[in-house]
Amino acid sequence: MAEDISRHYANRFPDFTNENSRDVVNTGNNSLSENFEAVLEQHIHDFIHRMNMKEQEWINRNDSSVYTGISGIAYLFFVYGERFNEPTYIDKAVELIEGAGGNKNDKKSITFLTGEAGRLAVGALIHHSVGNDEKSTEIITRLKSLYDFSAMYYYDELLYGRAGYLYSLLFVNKNISEGLIDEDLIKKVINCILTTGKNYSASRRLKIPLMYSWHEKEYLGGAHGIAGILYVLLQAREYLTDAQLNDEIKPSIDYLITLRFSSGNFPSSIGNKADRLVHWCHGAPSMTMLFTLAFEIFKEEKYLNVAKSCGEIIWERGLLKKGCGICHGTAGNAYTFLNLYQQTQDIKYLYQAATFAEWCFSYEKYQNRIPDRPFSLFEGLAGIIYFLIDLATPSTGKFPGYTL
Ligand SMILES: [Zn+2]
Repeated sequence: MAEDISRHYANRFPDFTNENSRDVVNTGNNSLSENFEAVLEQHIHDFIHRMNMKEQEWINRNDSSVYTGISGIAYLFFVYGERFNEPTYIDKAVELIEGAGGNKNDKKSITFLTGEAGRLAVGALIHHSVGNDEKSTEIITRLKSLYDFSAMYYYDELLYGRAGYLYSLLFVNKNISEGLIDEDLIKKVINCILTTGKNYSASRRLKIPLMYSWHEKEYLGGAHGIAGILYVLLQAREYLTDAQLNDEIKPSIDYLITLRFSSGNFPSSIGNKADRLVHWCHGAPSMTMLFTLAFEIFKEEKYLNVAKSCGEIIWERGLLKKGCGICHGTAGNAYTFLNLYQQTQDIKYLYQAATFAEWCFSYEKYQNRIPDRPFSLFEGLAGIIYFLIDLATPSTGKFPGYTL
């Protein structure tokens, strides 16, 4: 297993016991300890200060995406401003999102994370929050008009495909106001995603009702694979028919379970035998949220058990040498523990999330190279801060761009 060892640091944090966890969590009221809360908040403030100090290093990049560009940093500043009631950060978010003119590359993509739709959805939310509803409505009209383009699109995955467009539409309804995006539009996008999945699976004679390919591989994870697609579809369940939910989506989730490695981790694509990656983009971390939601909807214990075994793998192999970011780093992996804490109320998971956060406090020490976009939401410091803010209110924290 030499390959495994090269991708993650050994987890030397003690396993959870009441005794071991005393500095970090308060088992009496099932929350973070006061001491840890204070340390956490101090790091959030220090890190956001670092973002401000380094503005010249991230401001002029020709990238307006949520994933690695200005819209992601605007979104972080907005969330920080709301959480700590600091209007100057909201103003800064408005300024950044206004300046994030879609560049040509972003316009080729219709997704929340990498494309025009994310810039528009985040922009609509930020403008709405400062009472600029006229501007917000105009942006939402533009977001809806991307539908025609999305219908002709080649891919369905979250990062570059239709599931990422669907996420953007749901994001507006959830965060601004229900009904802003009408039901018909959402159903059309869903039907498109399901039709390609069924057609692809039939053409390859697969046993799974829905499958998709990206660059000729059948990926399974959150960013490029079926887990990301199924998870967004499950979050849109109020728009699904019973047949879509029970005859297409549920058996696809069941089939996914059969593809697991004996370790409990998931392959990055069908047929890939290397049990190497434990990232949100590839591997167990994005599966946790899919399976806890499946448990909530279908009430079958097996789904919760899969999610819990994702937690075990991530505890063991989740402190990544790639660094502490959201997409393929320790902060992203820690969302598994937040999600399991929310689902089970088991304080062990809050302890695990907090110890991963502690690791992220020294993020510069724990990366074998500096990411290409070291301040961005999905690869860099903005994502670490976003996770730390979520950890500070652990019952509501949600993986950005993935959990609505
Ligand atoms: Zn990644």
